[in-house]
Amino acid sequence: MLGLMQQWPLLCHKILDHAATQHPNREVVSRSVEGPIVRTTFSQIHLRACKVAQLFAREGYQPGDRIATLAWNTANHIEAWYGIMGMGGVYHTLNPRLFPDQIAWIMNHAQDRALFTDLTFMPLVEKLAPAIPSLKKIIVLTDGAHLPQTSLPNVVAYEDWLKEADGDFTWHNCNGDENTAAGMCYTSGTTGDPKGVLYSHRSNVLHAMMASMPDAMGISSRDVVLPVVPMFHANAWGLGQSGPMVGAKMVMPGGKMDGASIYELLDTEKVTFSAAVPTVWLMLLQYLEETGKKLPYMKKVVIGGSACPRVMVQKFQDNYDVEVIHAWGMTEMSPLGSLCSLKAEYADLSGEAKLDVQQTQGHAPFGVEMKVTDDENNPRPWDGKTFGRLKVRGPAVARAYYGGAGADQFDEENWFDTGDVAHINPEGYMQITDRAKDVIKSGGEWISTIDLENLAVAHPDVAEAAVIGIAHPRWDERPLLVVVKKPGKEPTREDLLSFMEGKIAKWWMPDDVTFVDEIPHTATGKIQKITLRERFKDYQLP
Ligand code: ADP
Repeated sequence: MLGLMQQWPLLCHKILDHAATQHPNREVVSRSVEGPIVRTTFSQIHLRACKVAQLFAREGYQPGDRIATLAWNTANHIEAWYGIMGMGGVYHTLNPRLFPDQIAWIMNHAQDRALFTDLTFMPLVEKLAPAIPSLKKIIVLTDGAHLPQTSLPNVVAYEDWLKEADGDFTWHNCNGDENTAAGMCYTSGTTGDPKGVLYSHRSNVLHAMMASMPDAMGISSRDVVLPVVPMFHANAWGLGQSGPMVGAKMVMPGGKMDGASIYELLDTEKVTFSAAVPTVWLMLLQYLEETGKKLPYMKKVVIGGSACPRVMVQKFQDNYDVEVIHAWGMTEMSPLGSLCSLKAEYADLSGEAKLDVQQTQGHAPFGVEMKVTDDENNPRPWDGKTFGRLKVRGPAVARAYYGGAGADQFDEENWFDTGDVAHINPEGYMQITDRAKDVIKSGGEWISTIDLENLAVAHPDVAEAAVIGIAHPRWDERPLLVVVKKPGKEPTREDLLSFMEGKIAKWWMPDDVTFVDEIPHTATGKIQKITLRERFKDYQLP
């Protein structure tokens, strides 16, 4: 027997309809790429998104067309997203930090038909565009007066383009099917080609609901939300949808993410909630320490994308009275996978005990199922120490990549292998201990390279450390510690090993230490272990 409730497809543009009817005058404030602060409202954004959709439909773009965006976080970028989805198209966010060849590869793979871009990226677009035959139109998010000279055909200034429409447009209904594609984002791919994740309207709407819940990001219409995390980095962690959904005032930082610029917005706009990767918060904390400034309005900050250092959590909470929510996720998960809010069991914790919990990546919200398994897919216990491959499933988790790459990461029961290695404690708190391809397998047991690196960098003479597995005739692999010394310091192999002794299991101790001038990094700032493994593949352990 079927229920007798209405079919109300979960379409993303209904989020913007809701924001424009329930919170029409709520402000969206942007630091524009041209410089000045620009103010608009959800009602204005709705009208301009309708114009975008109307113009695409008029110019012959079809539902399902991929329209790329190479842009900072601004109200214009939000309008572009909803306009694209509202005509039945698929917004495709591009990460400008990738190499130009990679961006071109991604755009050709997605067959992008049009591109929204900021002034900042015009030199890059001039180089890219000739290599992308599917690209028919470039819309520069600025007005006619700021549009630079360009040799490219079919370039238009956004503000001039919008003048051609009145916004009298009814959203495309996606044939009533909430599973229609809405957005797209490629994972950076440290190995092999990038892989495309294709979000649906349904997955985006459910993810936005999930993200807003009290134990997740917990935002409301009384919040002032500053997404520092870029819209091109896994959908700004869903804030482009959950912000309008709850009717929060939004503050969009444009291209400036240094400490002083972020502080200025936090202060003048009275921001209560923000989200970004640890590097951004490192810059802000440094700025605050140098200037002695405080954060009187901020209540909560979400930190993820890579592990949040303990001292960062402590400084935010103790020095600035801002609650930290450590979070883990992936492009493939829309992206939220877990958030470290305190469940009832932990609500009374304080001091070091609370920080211990906050070092974990937290617990899964409703809508994410999690397990850890061994290499043969046998579940491992939730005892807070046995680690295994982290697998997830849920309505906002990918079930395949666009074009079919990486099929081996999905199994027949829909479990997606994240490529992360983690343990989960009896209360459901998950902690990432490594990437599956980095973990060292010694005599059938696993050694976490991240734990060893964290320990090594705690030594006062170490600037940076990486641990890789070196082939070993008896144990398969053994750890090698690669260290960059702090300027003017001369730690020895013995200094470092004796520093680590007693703090880890004996069989985890690195077999050797080697010193280098520099450790290679990826475009997103993570240690490039592939390059290191290649460099040390013939290394002779003592
Ligand atoms: P990006 O590399 O652009 O940050 P991805 O989706 O490619 O985005 O990265 C997801 C990966 O980032 C995860 O699989 C995990 O390895 C890592 N990651 C994300 N958040 C955390 C976190 N809080 N702690 C540790 N690792 C994290």
